[in-house]
Amino acid sequence: MAKANYIRVIIDRAIHRELDYLVPETLADRVGVGSRVRVPFRDKSTLATVVAALDHSEAEGIRPIEAVIGEAPILSEQLLELARWISAYYCCPIETVMRSLLPQVIRRAEVGWKKQLFVRPARKIDNEEIEKLRKRAPRQAELLEVIAQLEGAMRAADLLRHTSLDNQTLRALVRRGLAELHEEAAVRDPHADEQFIATSNLVLNDEQSLALKRITQALDSPEDARPILLHGVTGSGKTEIYLQAIRAALERGRSAIVLVPEISLTPQTVEGFKGRFAEAQDAVAVLHSHLSEGERHDEWHKIHSGRARIAIGPRSAVFAPLKSLGLIVVDEEHENTYKQEEAPRYHARDVAVVRAKIEKCVVVLGSATPSLESYHNATTGKYRLATLTQRVDEKQMPLMRVVDLRQERRKERAIAILSGKLRGAIADRLEKREQTILFLNRRGFSTSLLCTNCGEARNCPNCSVALTFHRHVARLSCHLCGHTAAVPKKCPACGKDALIYAGFGTEKVESTVSQIFPKAAVRRMDADSMTRKEAYRETLRSFRAGKIEILVGTQMIAKGLHFPNVTLVGIINADLALHLPDFRAGERTFQLLTQVAGRAGRGETPGEVFVQTYTPFSPSIQFARHHDFAGYFQQELEFRERCDFPPFKHAILITIRSGHEERAKFSAETLMRRLKESLSPEFILGDPMPAPLEKLQGEFRFHILIRGEAIMRLSRLVRETLNKLPFPEDVTVTVDVDPYQLL
Ligand code: ADP
Ligand code: ZN
Repeated sequence: MAKANYIRVIIDRAIHRELDYLVPETLADRVGVGSRVRVPFRDKSTLATVVAALDHSEAEGIRPIEAVIGEAPILSEQLLELARWISAYYCCPIETVMRSLLPQVIRRAEVGWKKQLFVRPARKIDNEEIEKLRKRAPRQAELLEVIAQLEGAMRAADLLRHTSLDNQTLRALVRRGLAELHEEAAVRDPHADEQFIATSNLVLNDEQSLALKRITQALDSPEDARPILLHGVTGSGKTEIYLQAIRAALERGRSAIVLVPEISLTPQTVEGFKGRFAEAQDAVAVLHSHLSEGERHDEWHKIHSGRARIAIGPRSAVFAPLKSLGLIVVDEEHENTYKQEEAPRYHARDVAVVRAKIEKCVVVLGSATPSLESYHNATTGKYRLATLTQRVDEKQMPLMRVVDLRQERRKERAIAILSGKLRGAIADRLEKREQTILFLNRRGFSTSLLCTNCGEARNCPNCSVALTFHRHVARLSCHLCGHTAAVPKKCPACGKDALIYAGFGTEKVESTVSQIFPKAAVRRMDADSMTRKEAYRETLRSFRAGKIEILVGTQMIAKGLHFPNVTLVGIINADLALHLPDFRAGERTFQLLTQVAGRAGRGETPGEVFVQTYTPFSPSIQFARHHDFAGYFQQELEFRERCDFPPFKHAILITIRSGHEERAKFSAETLMRRLKESLSPEFILGDPMPAPLEKLQGEFRFHILIRGEAIMRLSRLVRETLNKLPFPEDVTVTVDVDPYQLL
């Protein structure tokens, strides 16, 4: 480490600038770029990250740092560069970026390794000594007998368990100078008590081999490698390619990151990776959101120290501190969960592409339904395309049947949850002992409580949405802010006893299915039924074992699951996503239908999918039905170009919110005027509008949408404009670059 006289740091507070400090002689050889330090700031002290080492500083009244946190620098220069890029691109202060880049346990360095006590004999102990002790203290002698024979050290806890003796006895031996205790760091491995079955490479088919070759060629000349988009239909064996590509990276002395959507970081996935790289117990570090602080600390250091060469995790794993990174895989690259919905509002796929460029490594984006942005990049040559058109082992793509709910409605009068056709198909599967998945992206029993007299719905007092009725708790609840309310007997607005439940969610589907098929084993899987951490694993296990015949669920069951005995998938209402006020509505519908359908027919028997809809001829549904990605892409791309939406233009969404409607509105209008002055005409500036979700958690919201090609410049102009404007204290302004949430 180069010795520095001065350092420049970013402190962990929003002050929007960097500060210089002096490094005392005594600390000089422990500080470098990427170190964490404690520094004085005003009349307090605070933690900070070192971003540069300086020979001299012009700063006035420069003060020395107080301490160095941890032993080695925790951020590489490449990760610092990445942080700066995120800050500039996503229009977000760098200290906020640091919060995402480094887990809190690492930033604060409050949690250390878990220490465990080990015992060993203090010196050579002969039998005579043990016998002498036996007369006075038989239990101590008994313990000493075991300790005397130890080759090395033994965990104190294990020793006491084996001998059924207690801690006091052990302490007494230590006091007599016969035994010695010392502490050693023990790694908290969340997967320690699981056995992973070692697997080896499968023989790839031709399409797979070609795709892998693309990747290994890139690994051999990473300097000029372009990102690779792996477009492979569901069940085409993309995971096997990832595994072999990672092997190839390891063989070249490089490490790898695998990003998966949070929702598909299942035990099944973890097992797949741990099993393939089982030769070294620590080879794979798993970073998911359920880790305890201690486990997170250990996994992070396992990666940082180089013991783990592969990091797998959701979004934030893109920041895993691996050295000599060779490969980043982004699985299901089209997934919205890669976008962080709080500052820094980064998209992990895009950050992965930038990190790969900085680290000179290969990035592979995989999906059966690539995002319009990525596919566009592949067709224009910015990315390379590798395609898998076939399922492995010549398995058929599932047969998609569209059920026109308008006709069903004419036939049956009542609103059908299960059309006659879908009901028949389920009965057929039950008979054949095959499994069914029913998908509906809406929780709860009824989605609103309506008065048939005055027409009022029970709305959330804090948000502009209706309250959902949950039958298992017999309450109304808001899915946005968590507000709950008792179910009124009479309409609180008009006093009439005329309330009806309208709309339905997964809870109602589950109960309807159980009524129609009273003997079937039905289970529901959504955020309400999966509140316990274990419930998720347990449900998947029972489903795999065939103990559940019909699984009803939300997007939780849409992705990544691989159950060979599922031959039927029912999409209860394909229109839900289509009617959102969002330019990606069509894209989301196409992706969801294709992904959910992909759960069917992954075993020997071909799958069948029923898509229930009121708009059977909408393009997303028709293209999904024919497994026609290219057709869908073409028509969607034309629409985006006509309307100046991504991938042709970038968008920035500014949200202005406040508990006072007038103040939010006024601030939005003021901001709008300033933006008009500072933005050149190449940028398309929309008028401030009430957000589609006008009120959320008690605040009124206004949107300003800006579009343009030169996103870095646009980001900078927006940031500069905002910095110059004083907003009232009760007005909050957020900036979302490349937004995914337009509500
Ligand atoms: P995808 O992620 O593309 O939807 P998967 O990776 O889940 O598909 O693969 C589907 C199944 O096919 C998995 O059980 C996988 O082990 C198996 N598989 C993949 N490649 C091969 C191969 N070359 N030969 C035999 N089986 C394969
Ligand atoms: Zn609410």
